[in-house]
Amino acid sequence: MKFYLASSNPGKLRDFSGMAPLEVELLPGFAALPLAIEDGATFEANAVKKAEHYSRLSGQRVVADDSGLEVAALGGAPGVHSARFAGPNASDADNNRLLLERLTGVPRKRRQAAFVCVLALAEAGRLLATFHGRAEGFILEAPRGAHGFGYDPLFYSPAAGCAFGELTPEQKAHYSHRGAAARQLLAWRQAQNARTHSHG
Ligand code: IMP
Repeated sequence: MKFYLASSNPGKLRDFSGMAPLEVELLPGFAALPLAIEDGATFEANAVKKAEHYSRLSGQRVVADDSGLEVAALGGAPGVHSARFAGPNASDADNNRLLLERLTGVPRKRRQAAFVCVLALAEAGRLLATFHGRAEGFILEAPRGAHGFGYDPLFYSPAAGCAFGELTPEQKAHYSHRGAAARQLLAWRQAQNARTHSHG
């Protein structure tokens, strides 16, 4: 069951590599397409904008992922600005450093955070469906693990019993916001297939 992902983030693609039987590949020709403008106020709005934009330009059925980290003690920041928390060209290391700085002195019980992921599926510029996933945890005081991307080394998942940065893509998919949204995408696709077959 193959889908094309419109994303310039190799970390997202690596996450999807641990989600068999779902097969997610980079949209062919993605790098040459003009970028979608991500100016929505919500993950859903941005995921929909990206899926509609890239499916219209490529003529393919496209999945877009909009995701980020919501930290309660920061009023939900960085939220939709997660990729650019420390500035327009911020690296993951820059963003992680700023996050730790903003949470200096905040005790463990007030370091709750959630990762949120919205996947949008569109074809020829038309939205087909959206899928939502969420993972609860808290922000560590120092990074742990060398896996994952973005804020993974700072995100402790009680369900997993470790930081996302300590998990392989297969392990992370069990606990992550992206894994939860991807399982809904898979279920949607299976329901579509069942309908198609029952109608001959
Ligand atoms: P987007 O490309 O606008 O959706 O931004 C996503 C940003 O949110 C990434 O660049 C990361 O900073 C953060 N993020 C989203 N999902 C994850 C994850 O699974 N692990 C770590 N950081 C994530």
